[in-house]
Amino acid sequence: AVTAPVLEVRDLTVRYGHVTALEDVSLTVGTGEVVAVVGPNGAGKTTLLRTMSGLVKPASGGISIAGRDVVGLPAYRVARAGLAHVPEGRGTVAPLTVEDNLRLGALSENTRETDRRIAGMYEVFPALGRLKRRRAGLLSGGEQQMLVVARGLMSQPSLLAIDEPSMGLAPIMVRELVGMLRRAAETGVGVLIVEQNLALATQLADRALILVRGTVRASGSRGELPADLLEEFLA
Ligand code: ATP
Repeated sequence: AVTAPVLEVRDLTVRYGHVTALEDVSLTVGTGEVVAVVGPNGAGKTTLLRTMSGLVKPASGGISIAGRDVVGLPAYRVARAGLAHVPEGRGTVAPLTVEDNLRLGALSENTRETDRRIAGMYEVFPALGRLKRRRAGLLSGGEQQMLVVARGLMSQPSLLAIDEPSMGLAPIMVRELVGMLRRAAETGVGVLIVEQNLALATQLADRALILVRGTVRASGSRGELPADLLEEFLA
């Protein structure tokens, strides 16, 4: 069966005063898909995430999450429509345990339902189950990244959007991250990641979209991206 994409961005243009941060950007993310947005500093990656989340109002264009138009909605209503945004820098609540951090992500006051979802997260990410009573501030960088991904999934979003997931991770942890994002996608969500590093993005994602100065220069899987562009980017 053909289902609506969990994210559809259509001809999105965003301006800050005279600066055009995004121009006619379109992209889709399907259920179970991991898509990366890659680009150098100032390309407009964070602007895209902030506009999707309802923190910035676009000049024109459309954004649908799980089939619902979200342009103009405040951030909490976009979250309710199915977007979980994991901002850069992880942001676990250091003095709280792993389990209580997960509890915060549920956005629900139904304790039994929350407990059920937490148990589900320990099945997807067994390492978190072993660490559940540990304070989040004592986790390694990779463990914290796993925790924020799981915390994002606790609200049962349609789309998980993650800003710079590999930031500060050792190469061995980046390999773990690939598995982590894959498992997240297999729970039935779409995953959108923002990355500066193209080589990494093509490892992490099914498809990458290259953003340069606010416009999409190319998109596709690693094999599909034009070689000259890859060279320019990997140089
Ligand atoms: P980085 O990788 O450095 O975080 P980015 O790809 O996330 O970059 P954005 O932060 O989205 O890029 O910025 C896109 C453009 O918009 C840049 O030229 C930036 O200077 C500009 N910009 C971002 N935020 C604002 C703002 N609040 N007011 C004015 N200009 C802004």
